[in-house]
Amino acid sequence: MHQWKVLLLEAGSDPPLTSDIPRFATSLVGSDIDWQYKTEPQDGICLGLENKQCKWPRGKVLGGTSTINYLAYVRGMKNDFDNWANAGNPG
Ligand SMILES: Cc1cc2nc3c(=O)[nH]c(=O)nc-3n(C[C@H](O)[C@H](O)[C@H](O)COP(=O)(O)OP(=O)(O)OC[C@H]3O[C@@H](n4cnc5c(N)ncnc54)[C@H](O)[C@@H]3O)c2cc1C
Repeated sequence: MHQWKVLLLEAGSDPPLTSDIPRFATSLVGSDIDWQYKTEPQDGICLGLENKQCKWPRGKVLGGTSTINYLAYVRGMKNDFDNWANAGNPG
């Protein structure tokens, strides 16, 4: 039996209670547990937004972005897995 030790380094803090409720995820975007990144202004992108910059939320918290996401389960595409295998990545 292996005796593993895992060191977890995390820039953020513990998650707030609201992160347990998926419906509240939108309130966590832009909060202090979000890195609050914005996209760079680009032609044809985020045209309706200030300085043409979209929010690019990423969790800065224990649990990462899944702490601020919607918990929607999305199945992988069969073609994606087949293409990765055909590109030389069996299994
Ligand atoms: C608003 C939103 C909704 C979403 N909804 C869904 C959904 O419903 N279903 C779904 O499947 N996916 C969803 N996603 C996508 C999914 O949440 C992310 O793709 C996934 O959580 C990313 O995981 P990760 O492990 O790659 O990165 P992360 O979970 O972002 O983990 C990176 C971690 O590293 C930490 N870190 C970064 N830099 C440093 C540093 N220098 N030192 C220490 N720690 C650091 C961060 O704080 C973070 O905790 C959503 C994403 C967002 C933004």
